[in-house]
Amino acid sequence: MEYNQTKTVLAYVETAGGKPVNVGLELLSPAKAIAGQLGGTVTAVLIGSGLDAAAQRVAVSGADRVIAVDSPEYSSFAMDEYTFVLQQLLQEEQPAVFLAGNTPQGKSLAPRLAARFNSGCISDAVTVHTESGSLTWVTPRFGGTVLAEECIENSPLQICTIRTGAFQKQEPAQNACSIETKKISVPKESVKTQIRQAVQELSEAVNLEDAEVIVAGGRGMGNAENFKLVEELAELLGGVVGATRPAIEEGWISRAHQVGQSGKIVAPRLYIACGVSGATQHVSGMTGSDFVVAINKDEDAAIFDVANVGIIGDAVKVIPAMMEEIRKIKAEG
Ligand SMILES: Cc1cc2nc3c(=O)[nH]c(=O)nc-3n(C[C@H](O)[C@H](O)[C@H](O)COP(=O)(O)OP(=O)(O)OC[C@H]3O[C@@H](n4cnc5c(N)ncnc54)[C@H](O)[C@@H]3O)c2cc1C
Repeated sequence: MEYNQTKTVLAYVETAGGKPVNVGLELLSPAKAIAGQLGGTVTAVLIGSGLDAAAQRVAVSGADRVIAVDSPEYSSFAMDEYTFVLQQLLQEEQPAVFLAGNTPQGKSLAPRLAARFNSGCISDAVTVHTESGSLTWVTPRFGGTVLAEECIENSPLQICTIRTGAFQKQEPAQNACSIETKKISVPKESVKTQIRQAVQELSEAVNLEDAEVIVAGGRGMGNAENFKLVEELAELLGGVVGATRPAIEEGWISRAHQVGQSGKIVAPRLYIACGVSGATQHVSGMTGSDFVVAINKDEDAAIFDVANVGIIGDAVKVIPAMMEEIRKIKAEG
């Protein structure tokens, strides 16, 4: 495998609300492992406006160098502009590997860049093997029931998006690496699409991907009234509400809350599944969770196979009891 001579790994760290998103910090771990294998370094790239705090955070999170492309013109994501900026940086830096999160942004940018550099593009990797001297990426297929191993051949540049929760963030280091601020102007002719107006839907405020605690409800909650218990528990724990597809189809909650193959891929510290059977299409979206509690009245439910703690019982009775205990603990503490 021929790599670009610099052996650098360029990692695009997406930001939201002035902070790096979780997967942006997580992907610095495989970036570091790959750079270690190649004998190179990790350069993290941020694009946005007012990036000082985010760049500082990234500078202690595993990168050897941070480039912040910081300008008011990048205050919100715009496909052509961001693609142009990254294309410029890839040309300047000549990295061997480019990584982005498998987020809507990463999924849009990575294939475009791959087309521009005539490289392959691997999507949604959960593991990378570096041992053989070439990179082998592992990606889940068919809702996670099959793991595929993929390589990019005959390209000096490898482009890959990384699944949220697949890798651990690194502990913040004592010393920060250097941060370079760049201005890259995008020529008018490179912008083919103009965003006339950006309307933020209420549903966009649902940030399941970065949630530390998710309480998810399934069809087993029975009706919209009972589903409110899921929302109450989530609120009590300072978490976010997740849902299975049937719960959404029943109209108990909006689609922005769907976890799974055709919903969001999540990786919270705590995932509480209430009345969720554990179908592959749901579980494939939450296996990155650190600790799973499942409440289901069927002791044979598949969700118990991925649970750290299983509660066999009626969620409509168990959730209020849990909330009572949590409130007591909070009152004591
Ligand atoms: C292409 C495709 C994509 C899909 N994508 C997704 C996806 O992204 N996300 C997703 O979630 N699904 C997805 N699905 C649907 C998926 O296959 C399952 O149908 C779905 O996850 C099941 O949801 P559920 O667990 O809420 O419902 P069910 O499978 O009906 O399970 C309900 C569970 O609740 C339990 N229960 C019932 N009453 C109670 C009670 N009172 N207390 C406690 N437990 C109780 C039952 O024992 C049962 O285990 C997809 C399907 C397809 C074909």
